Amino acid sequence: MSEQTPAVHVLNKMANFFVLEEGQGLTLIDTGNKDKLENLRRKFEQLGLDLQALRRIVVTHSHYDHVGSLLALKQAVAAQVLAHRDEVPFLTQAKRIPRPAGVPGFLFWLSEPLFRAPAIAVDQVLLDGSMIEGTGLQVVHTPGHTPGHICLYHAGRKALFTGDGLVNNQGKLSGPVPFFSSDIKQARASLTRLAELDIETFYFAHGETMRGISKEILRSLAGLSIPVAVAGK
Ligand SMILES: [Zn+2]
Ligand SMILES: [Zn+2]
Repeated sequence: MSEQTPAVHVLNKMANFFVLEEGQGLTLIDTGNKDKLENLRRKFEQLGLDLQALRRIVVTHSHYDHVGSLLALKQAVAAQVLAHRDEVPFLTQAKRIPRPAGVPGFLFWLSEPLFRAPAIAVDQVLLDGSMIEGTGLQVVHTPGHTPGHICLYHAGRKALFTGDGLVNNQGKLSGPVPFFSSDIKQARASLTRLAELDIETFYFAHGETMRGISKEILRSLAGLSIPVAVAGK
């Protein structure tokens, strides 16, 4: 990616979210925590982008720090909302996310409705391996953090948008945070899927973008409950 034509813009509102400027129209990956529409519009303008050019919003999962502005955006622009089939009932709020194990997990689960974003309909249902038309993005179903959690892989850029499937805490990598995760064992096992991909750049929802994480590290994280310090680039 050259400096003159940046195709991936990183925004932040509690969680990182991303605008992709390539293919047909603009694509947003997640929306961050709830924000005012004017703020979002201004953030787009600062990047030289028009919010009205947003065509699709791909949702990694339904936690509020990822979908806080989803409904407001959907009402303001002609964008489609895309999510994995197994995440749809949580986005529409037909069902609650399965409760994480342990006391901290229970407390998170108990308080989660207080922060929850408004219910939203999904326009396009995704499955593992789905290609997202007009973007070069492919869906990698990585269940466990939530049942329908996805990472998004761009083979052309060798880039992965991790959602909460992989977390970078100031150079220490781990799978998802246990007490936010519906099934932490399954979430860690999902990391082995990432080791099958050819990835150079990791765009985290939580933590700085990193390059050069080996497949061995990804595989080892799948069996670990402690973070691993990584000398990424
Ligand atoms: Zn999450
Ligand atoms: Zn998150």
